[in-house]
Amino acid sequence: MGKLLNAQRVVFLSHSAELAGAEILMLRLLSEPMFDDVKVLLFSHGELREKFAALGISASVIETKSLHDFRRNGSAFSALSKIRPMVATTKNLSSHLRSGDLLVASSQKAFVLGCLVKMFRKDVGPLIWWLHDILTKEHFSSTNLRTVVLLSKLFASKVICTSEEVRSAYEAAGGKRSKASVVEPGIDLRIFTAEHETSRKRTKTAISLSRISPWKGQRNFLDALALLPDANGLIVGAPLFGEQDYFEDLKKHASSLGLDDRVTFMGHRDDVAEVLRSATVFVHVPDAPEPFGQVVIEAMACGLPVVVSNEGAPGRICSGGGGILVPPNNPSRLAEAINKVMSKPDYRGELARKAKTISAKYDAASMRRNFLRALNEV
Ligand code: UDP
Repeated sequence: MGKLLNAQRVVFLSHSAELAGAEILMLRLLSEPMFDDVKVLLFSHGELREKFAALGISASVIETKSLHDFRRNGSAFSALSKIRPMVATTKNLSSHLRSGDLLVASSQKAFVLGCLVKMFRKDVGPLIWWLHDILTKEHFSSTNLRTVVLLSKLFASKVICTSEEVRSAYEAAGGKRSKASVVEPGIDLRIFTAEHETSRKRTKTAISLSRISPWKGQRNFLDALALLPDANGLIVGAPLFGEQDYFEDLKKHASSLGLDDRVTFMGHRDDVAEVLRSATVFVHVPDAPEPFGQVVIEAMACGLPVVVSNEGAPGRICSGGGGILVPPNNPSRLAEAINKVMSKPDYRGELARKAKTISAKYDAASMRRNFLRALNEV
């Protein structure tokens, strides 16, 4: 591992206590020693802090009520009403920072707080925005988009994007290309292996694995399974960001399609590799473009053939034959693709082999090297 040239200490800022993709990625990045001195500041209590402690990384929680109901698609008025509590949080955050600290904000809310710190403290080191989202009006209000892009121009020394798609959207929203670098996520390829493929594999089982959220495509997955009477489905994941009602609707939808005997809702699982290996085909076709989609690489590394959306990063990654590409929001095309994989063992094997080869590029060690290189460009 190279050396960080421009700072004594690196401080990662994260607002969420939930273990969603951005938080899992931060854990993956920091799971091997990378910096001489690193600290994590979180804005809510939860499992994440214990996970960092287990890695020997100091993580402190800065409590703030103001951030939890701060919406990505909120109006200017609702944002203004949060200013006072945000200033209080900023002061609190500032008290944890030393002169010269390099800040890496791993969520939008954390980035905004980082910008506020930079307004008050000239002695703090560069601020990096680790951007995991495709900044479009599908997911963010115009006010929010304009604000974060402007803040990035004023205060960010670098925007590290998790994919080319994330960088393009950032640029299209008005961000400066010269500030943006792409560092694609990497996974631990010693955990996500195909070697345990055994007779325990359930035949004709399609698996969807991601947090449960209205745009992640679980509803279309159910609709596709309803068209395939021989197929079983596993839906793995939990609603993480207050989307419990959608989860309940999803279960009702499965019942109304007569899928109770064929579909299992498994909830959140920590043994992701094991669960993936038990299925025949992995399906990830969200309604909107996926910024990166670590789950897709995880499934490919576990030797699963994948059916993914032709939009977003997975569509690009799998475009050379690493998976079947289908359009979003089209259950019949999805059912066709699942059926093709399930009914043709040779084709399945060929897809799985290609997927495995592609996944080998996405190892955590390369991500760490690329991340360090991006930080050293600041
Ligand atoms: N994940 C998990 N258990 C689950 C569902 C998901 O550990 O039950 C993990 C999954 O393995 C992946 C992460 O959550 O590492 C999701 O990251 P991704 O980039 O796919 O999606 P995001 O949450 O960022 O939208």
